[in-house]
Amino acid sequence: MADIVLDKVTKSFPDGTTAVHGIDLEIADGEFVILVGPSGCGKSTTLNMIAGLEDITSGELRIGGQRVNDRAPKDRDIAMVFQSYALYPNMTVRENMAFPLKLAKMAKEEIDRKVGEAAKVLELTEHLDRKPANLSGGQRQRVAMGRAIVRSPKAFLMDEPLSNLDAKLRVQMRTQVSRLQKQLGTTTVYVTHDQTEAMTLGDRVVVMRGGHLQQVGDPQTLYDRPVNLFVAGFIGSPSMNFLPATVEENALRCPMGELALDDRLRRLLTAADAPRQLVLGIRPEHFEDAALVDQAGKGFTFTAPVDLVESMGSDKYVYFSVEGGPAVAADLEDLAADAGGADVPHDRANLVTRLSAESRVRGGQEARIWMNVDKIHLFDPSSGRNIT
Ligand code: ATP
Repeated sequence: MADIVLDKVTKSFPDGTTAVHGIDLEIADGEFVILVGPSGCGKSTTLNMIAGLEDITSGELRIGGQRVNDRAPKDRDIAMVFQSYALYPNMTVRENMAFPLKLAKMAKEEIDRKVGEAAKVLELTEHLDRKPANLSGGQRQRVAMGRAIVRSPKAFLMDEPLSNLDAKLRVQMRTQVSRLQKQLGTTTVYVTHDQTEAMTLGDRVVVMRGGHLQQVGDPQTLYDRPVNLFVAGFIGSPSMNFLPATVEENALRCPMGELALDDRLRRLLTAADAPRQLVLGIRPEHFEDAALVDQAGKGFTFTAPVDLVESMGSDKYVYFSVEGGPAVAADLEDLAADAGGADVPHDRANLVTRLSAESRVRGGQEARIWMNVDKIHLFDPSSGRNIT
């Protein structure tokens, strides 16, 4: 086992594309770290540099305290699991899993023991004599994992290993991968573009964009305290709402009305350099049908016409169009769109709320909605920085 340290690691390709810009990242021994971000953000390139499949343009990569920049992939003692499984079709499950050990010239009894153990952990024992063609997608992916496990490597590197599976199986496999990683305690770096996967799997999540790290933290911290608009929009489903907001004397004007400033916000927003135009961020789950809320609780209530109600069984997604407010810089739109399609307000702001299943609100009617003001985030529209 080993820790993995990236020290100002940069990757530029011969055509001039810089895919990774001097990133610093320390992955502890035994940790499960997820690299997440939209397509092209540099996550696979980062993983491939750790694996040795791409060379490092500048900076240093250390595995277990040793510089490995120039070490061949086979000498790094790590195992990769790919989206495509990469199984040998003419070999049985047993032979596929034994293959790396045979290459390493391990004794037959030892190979049998290791394959047997891995098969047990992965619940593949009864399939050991089958060929990959006769397995389900989930079973194939488990064989691919088994082939990585048998080597007892210092680290596992996984590049979107579950993305070929259907939605239900992906959820099942997610739990298995998570359990397996805890059981083995092997340092694991896992790449995905799926924020749900990132949030549910890892000890820590690394959010990347344009070859830069945006934020590194445990899932709850990313959700509760996103450092900027990008992370705020990327983490969470449905995405955080972004609305224009203006700082007034003692209030914050937003499309739903005027929010009174509490002491903390007043201090923040009356600072000399605080911008007067802001972006207010609030997650859909931080709204509720006002009829279902104890009005003694702290909060803010507004009335708006309902566009659409989507019943999800356990809760309801209720969409509103709220009017007014200043336009937000165009580049913000790109930022939020990149972040996974969060709605960005112009003069008409679309608001997504997630209400209890018991809510009686109906499309085409006005609804009274409660908003948990303790959960709002305020962003500087020019830098995207979260100032709350
Ligand atoms: P995806 O989820 O789509 O796989 P990613 O976040 O893994 O995306 P990378 O594959 O790491 O992204 O690519 C990062 C950037 O580097 C992209 O802009 C990509 O076009 C570019 N890139 C990747 N490989 C090469 C290459 N061999 N030559 C030039 N540019 C490359």
